[in-house]
Amino acid sequence: MVKSRREVLIVEDQKLNQEMLQDILEPNYGIVCADNGLEALNILLKSGEKFSAVLLDILMPVMDGYEVMRVMQKNPRLSTIPVLVTSQVFEEEYELKALNMGASDFISKPYNAEILKKRLHNLIQMHENATAVGMMEKDNLTGLYSKEGFCHKMDEVLKNRPDILFDVIALDIEHFKLFNDTYGVDEGDQLLKFVARRIVDESGECNGICARVYADQFLIFCERREDYVRKMVDHINSKMEDYPLDMKVHVKLGVYEIHDITISVNSMCDRAFIAVKAAKGRYENDVAYYDDSIREKLLREQQIGDDMVHALREEQFDVYFQPKYDLLTEKMTGAEALVRWHHPIKGFMSPAEFIPIFEKNGFITELDMYVWNKSCEYIAKWREKYGEWVSLSVNVSRKDIYKQNLPEILKDMVERYGIPPEILHLEITESAYTENPEQLIFIVGQLKKEGFIIEMDDFGSGYSSLNMLAELPIDILKLDMKFLQNKGEQSKNENIMSAIVELAKKINLYVIAEGVEKEKQISMLKSMKCDMVQGYYYAKPMPAEEFEKTCLD
Ligand code: C2E
Ligand code: CA
Ligand code: CA
Repeated sequence: MVKSRREVLIVEDQKLNQEMLQDILEPNYGIVCADNGLEALNILLKSGEKFSAVLLDILMPVMDGYEVMRVMQKNPRLSTIPVLVTSQVFEEEYELKALNMGASDFISKPYNAEILKKRLHNLIQMHENATAVGMMEKDNLTGLYSKEGFCHKMDEVLKNRPDILFDVIALDIEHFKLFNDTYGVDEGDQLLKFVARRIVDESGECNGICARVYADQFLIFCERREDYVRKMVDHINSKMEDYPLDMKVHVKLGVYEIHDITISVNSMCDRAFIAVKAAKGRYENDVAYYDDSIREKLLREQQIGDDMVHALREEQFDVYFQPKYDLLTEKMTGAEALVRWHHPIKGFMSPAEFIPIFEKNGFITELDMYVWNKSCEYIAKWREKYGEWVSLSVNVSRKDIYKQNLPEILKDMVERYGIPPEILHLEITESAYTENPEQLIFIVGQLKKEGFIIEMDDFGSGYSSLNMLAELPIDILKLDMKFLQNKGEQSKNENIMSAIVELAKKINLYVIAEGVEKEKQISMLKSMKCDMVQGYYYAKPMPAEEFEKTCLD
């Protein structure tokens, strides 16, 4: 901190001495004088922070200099102000006592003006440097340690306590950026302070040291206890549930268990952050532990991430179409648009491999927009060429639903291509509901208002409840493929499927079964009164030209 003109408090009962000190220091400092200890304390207690130093006489009436120092030492606001003790007589005994009581330096009368000025200057300089270092060790917003302070402290503890097992835990707030964008930086700061208090509370039991490193990235260094990380994340997240704002955010933890203390503390922190990255964007996992396979996996993901922007520009992405059929009439009812990546080096890559990565790094929104645009382009083109609307279903990632203006974007898009909104079906995966039901209900309501048809994708794959069906105004239920993929007991799968279909009919939903590969599955689905089917039995996803030839011509 740079102060414009530093202020010094002179505490001295003899007027003559007061004036002399004032004359010496006035050219460089703002001066306030007190005639005795009591007056000095009154001034200090009122506005002690503004003084860069105190010049304190020892022998004074009413209250002496020792007493002043005793009170200052006890008060955390005043204990750090440098005190230069002045004394009439030079006696080692006085000097020692003053220094023992917290004085920074001692100078005896008569004063040599130059020496006095120099000593005072050095004293103030040293103190300000130390404060600056202290400030670097703290995070201004939360009062937690900064990364430097944290590493410093961690290093010290690790060296002194080789008998104890420690962990470094990285914490990250999911969707913090979106929270900031939605509510503004001030609310964002409040949330950060809230999280800071929670982690201090939660890590107290295991003697934790906490830091905020950057934005919403926190670190905790603490003693390892049995099964404590799970509890920690659950506690923090249940407190976050009560956070008084509509948008619910929660935190993820990444743990690096310290086994080898020869690794630098910085790398230990990096590993905790690598672990938390692995937990991010995975709705089913709030905690991840570091191991070397995580590291390799992230490197691979990084590589794919690095290639993607380039890939979009170079049109390496392509959209394939897989037709859907009405079970009764066996007529095609539309098709699902599925993205493909022809990577120049890796060759053909499955969306199952790259979509989860794009969901994590946020690129999915851009890629989906590309696929939606392409799909609209084809709908418009086929309308012109064949005189009919071919309805296409596009996938909407669970990340897309966090975009507040999604309904507007899609509305503008269909308008631009002159397409009635009900021709574009939106497939939203069931797991979006598990992740953030309120947000999904809100967005689906808006999309419905705009006239889009909503298909609930992968229904039955996760842990979502049947409540979801009552809460979400969807049109079509898309049964998860696992029901048809001979995993688990087949008769049980069939029973569940038929129960779902029955329930769906009661609430006026259409049902589509995907992953149909065999003829006998078709008769089964017919007997259940399932409405539509999609699967390899009928057709695989195919490029636009082939789709035109086999399904439209
Ligand atoms: P999904 O939305 O459940 O899509 C159906 C997947 O099942 C497709 O895999 C499709 O090729 C495959 N499939 C279709 N019929 C059969 C069958 O009879 N048997 C079997 N075993 N599989 C069948 P694909 O194209 O590899 O896509 C995988 C997943 O990637 C999709 O699952 C979807 O979640 C995601 N995805 C694909 N394209 C996009 C996209 O443009 N945007 C987003 N957000 N996700 C996409
Ligand atoms: Ca789908
Ligand atoms: Ca699906």
